[in-house]
Amino acid sequence: MPAIELSELIARVDAFLDGPRPLTIVHAGDPVLRHGALPYEGQLGDGRLNRLIRAMRETMHAAPGVGLAAPQIGIPLRLAVLEDPAEVADEVREARERVPLPFRVLVNPSYEAVGTGRAAFFEGCLSVPGYQAVVARHARVRLRAQDENGREIDEEFSGWPARIVQHETDHLGGTLYLDVAETRSLTTTRDLIERWAHPTPAEAARELGFTLPGTSPVPL
Ligand code: ZN
Repeated sequence: MPAIELSELIARVDAFLDGPRPLTIVHAGDPVLRHGALPYEGQLGDGRLNRLIRAMRETMHAAPGVGLAAPQIGIPLRLAVLEDPAEVADEVREARERVPLPFRVLVNPSYEAVGTGRAAFFEGCLSVPGYQAVVARHARVRLRAQDENGREIDEEFSGWPARIVQHETDHLGGTLYLDVAETRSLTTTRDLIERWAHPTPAEAARELGFTLPGTSPVPL
């Protein structure tokens, strides 16, 4: 990862904070999404950190999205914001365990699987606009991080919130969801809406020819 001087990092954050809102989201192809982010060790100071978090939350809402990692706005620090009102149909909520996730800030997050359960659903990314793909993720994870006030977080997440935690934490290591997706499931957002807006991707798996966890490969 190319080193970034502290003064350059702060200048970049200040330029964003003084610039237009919502912040511009960078897309796949920008190296900042691939280099991995630096641990947050108070480089920005509390006032600037809080302003950056507010700007990230505003940008996440405007997108709209349910999570945003700092590299997605060009800041190579291990910071992310999450929030999901989970305004979805009951059958979708049940199938995907998509329950509301109140706003929270993750500083230096890491996660590990709890158990061996996997859950496979379509997901997308604000940095890869126009597409979605199925990702089989840990059904339950243990998250360790700090919050924006430096308090330790050690919590377990399941269902859709566990998916959001994994997706955003992966961003901080330079991984995009496409790296871990079932690539044969790749679909444009338009096709997703027209064809695959079911609570589960079972029919998409049959028609597009990819395997869901716990099922057999499609016979040739
Ligand atoms: Zn993303």
